Amino acid sequence: MNKKPVLWIVIPCYNEQEVLPITAPQFLNKIIQLRDSGRISDESRVLFVNDGSKDDTWNIIAKLAAEDPHYIGISQSRNRGHQNAVLAGLMEAKDKCDITISIDCDGQDDINAMDAMVDEYLNGCEIVYGVRSKRETDTWFKRTTAEGFYKVMNKMGAEVVFNHADYRLVSSRVLQHFADFREVNIFLRGMFPLVGFKSTSVYYERNERIAGSSHYPLKKMIALAFDGITSLSVKPIHMIAGAGTIVSLLGFIGIIWAIIVALQGKSVAGWASTVCIVCFLGGIQLLSLGVIGEYVGKTYMESKHRPRYIISERTWEEKER
Ligand code: UDP
Ligand code: MG
Repeated sequence: MNKKPVLWIVIPCYNEQEVLPITAPQFLNKIIQLRDSGRISDESRVLFVNDGSKDDTWNIIAKLAAEDPHYIGISQSRNRGHQNAVLAGLMEAKDKCDITISIDCDGQDDINAMDAMVDEYLNGCEIVYGVRSKRETDTWFKRTTAEGFYKVMNKMGAEVVFNHADYRLVSSRVLQHFADFREVNIFLRGMFPLVGFKSTSVYYERNERIAGSSHYPLKKMIALAFDGITSLSVKPIHMIAGAGTIVSLLGFIGIIWAIIVALQGKSVAGWASTVCIVCFLGGIQLLSLGVIGEYVGKTYMESKHRPRYIISERTWEEKER
């Protein structure tokens, strides 16, 4: 590689007027430092994605952009949420740079991990996940819920890198393929592993939010987990079908038991038959729901029109898309 890679740092911002003036210069310094160490090109940029903020965030971004050409920004027409903001930034960046690093703008993620990320890229990795090595600065509650989040996600069949949020380096080559993932419900940290390519992790310590407050209360975390699971896996449907099978089996055993008891003449009239039939039918109903759900799930996955395969290498040269 002769030409130095162009890096775009993609930063979603929602109502961040308190933090932005503090963290923006830190991002710029990082770009300058990476450039001076000869790792990246001077064409590199800090891209702010304003996610329909209701405060002064967009004005601050516009002012920054006027001050230094390294700062640029785009704005979403309305608040669409963190995931969509990051996606918008990445899609904006994909044809204009060689590497992107997405990071929150609140200073919680250690920007110094970017050095190691860029080094991994220069060593041939196309995706580098930023992974928190410890969460001591988060409250006990936030830490437990967040770690529970990753565990539940993985149990439910959505593969995610443990303790990796959306601080990650992605090459434009991966983004070109990522653009083919046309689903509407997006959960970026679960989707990038699906794209494949060589990836690795870089560890860093998570700091406290510099200013302002978290936009991810428990309610949003649960919503994100639910979105993540339902957009990456149909396992919940399998679980319904499984529960249905077990319940109907129990109902069936109950019926046999009731018959035996009745033959022995020890039964209370009417009780066993009622309970067993209710259980059995309930189970069958759950099972049927599960089966129907299975098809709905399949249709759902199909309707996403995901690419069926992605070629990462060829023995001959293919023109860049
Ligand atoms: N964010 C966004 N849109 C939203 C909510 C949050 O773009 O609707 C941005 C926010 O500005 C920040 C990042 O997403 O840069 C992460 O949000 P936050 O720090 O509040 O979440 P936490 O770190 O507490 O999980
Ligand atoms: Mg944060």
